[in-house]
This record gives sequence, structure tokens and C-alpha cells, in this order.
Amino acid sequence: MSYSFFVDTSRCTACRGCQIACKEWYELPANKTRQTGSHQNPPDLNVNNYKLVRFSEHLEGEKIRWNFFPDQCRHCIDPPCVYIGQNYEDDAVFQDTKTGAVVYTDKTRKIPKDGFDSMREACPYDIPRRDPATGRISKCSMCYDRLVRGLKPVCVDVCPTGTMNFGERSQMLTLAEERLARVKKDHPKTILADVEDVNVIYLLTDLPENYHEYSVAQGSSGLNRHQFLAGIAAPFKRAGKVLSKSV
Ligand code: SF4
Ligand code: SF4
Repeated sequence: MSYSFFVDTSRCTACRGCQIACKEWYELPANKTRQTGSHQNPPDLNVNNYKLVRFSEHLEGEKIRWNFFPDQCRHCIDPPCVYIGQNYEDDAVFQDTKTGAVVYTDKTRKIPKDGFDSMREACPYDIPRRDPATGRISKCSMCYDRLVRGLKPVCVDVCPTGTMNFGERSQMLTLAEERLARVKKDHPKTILADVEDVNVIYLLTDLPENYHEYSVAQGSSGLNRHQFLAGIAAPFKRAGKVLSKSV
């Protein structure tokens, strides 16, 4: 059994409750930012924001359309960052076999800058960030510390609109398919983004590029995602190496 999020962006109001709850739970400090003319704040994911509600505005015919996208690590089913990170430092990054959570530990401080660069480059969603002061690499952990105590991720607990859902993968897939069928009646472009490959399943009612550049997987041109992951992982796989663990 593994777990998945289902993120129904058709219900998101960009209240940013999830973003703030994540910061509070992990006691992450505030970022000094300035007004850039966008509702999105801070401008990008960073070491103090594992979750960021992205905001995009564009014209649809004569109408202005707002798209909200609560961005976070997708906890890939076959995560390239784990293959690469483990090659640099044992146990710095792992995928929990029980939950599917991809977790970065304090040992990521031992991964050199070029190792981090490779991890970020390999991530199809541009997620990992590195603190230049400490060397620690960070991102959403699926609230692994809460999961092992029987609690849901904090962003799911606080979401007031039903956008953030979490549970057994099979249940989330059923919910996602039900919502897809319903929402598609009014919004024909609706899709489930990269549903086969990730444990954070987004329902998008508009074209992916109208949310942000990495809303769906970005791989090497000309390769599909599985070929891309296999190509990335191959040089790093060591004979007999255990690439995942469970606590
Ligand atoms: S989204 Fe990126 S950081 Fe998250 S598991 Fe996948 S490859 Fe790793
Ligand atoms: S808490 Fe829910 S509604 Fe508010 S921004 Fe996050 S996902 Fe959207």
C-alpha cells in the first residue's frame, strides 16, 4: 500500500493556508519579499517554502483567467532524485516503501553542490532547493514525521475547500477519476497530470502551461518520461544497492 495526494485545483481559492501551515509545522522562517505585482509570494520555492501556491493570470478570449497551483514535490513513483542523491551519500535521500514518501535527511548536507545540481536537473518538476549556508537540500517530505504517527500531511488538514486530499493511492485514484468525469463536463480541457508516475495527482482544468512551466513533467526532448527516468538512473545504479527503505 502506498499513499497519494489528490490536488483538485478546480477547488483552490489560493488562500495559501496550506503554504503557511507547512511553514508553521516545520518552523520555517519567513522570507523577506517585496510586492512584484503578483498574488504569488514568495516568487518561487526555496529552502523556507516546501510548498508554494503558484498564481498565473492570462486571457481566455476576452476574459481574464486566474489559475492556482499548490506546488510541491510529487513523490515520484520512480524518483530520479533518489537514484542520484544516494550515489553521493548513503541515506541522505530515500523512498519509504510503506508510504511512497520521498524523504531528504540532514545527511543531504554532505552532498556536494554538483550533486545537488544533478538532483535538481533530474527532477522533472524542478523541486529540490539547497541552503547555501548549510548545504542542506530540502523539499516536501509528505509530512513523513506526521505519517509515521498516523496523522495526515498538515496541508491536507488545513485546506478548507477540498482541494488537498490524501489517502491510500487506490482511493485517491478513484476520487481523481470521479472528479475528472464531473469537472470535464464544464471544462473539456481537464486532465489528471502525470497520473501514472507520481503520488501527487493534480487535476488541471486548463492547459498545463497555463499554470506554470513545471506543472507536468519536463524531460529530455524526444524521450517519454519512463525512458527519461531510465536514462537518468542508469549510470547511478550500483549493483546490489538498496534504493528504498522503510521505518
Ligand atoms: S518531484 Fe522531484 S524532488 Fe520530488 S520525488 Fe520527484 S524527482 Fe524527487
Ligand atoms: S489551503 Fe487549499 S484552497 Fe487554500 S491555497 Fe492551499 S490548496 Fe488552495
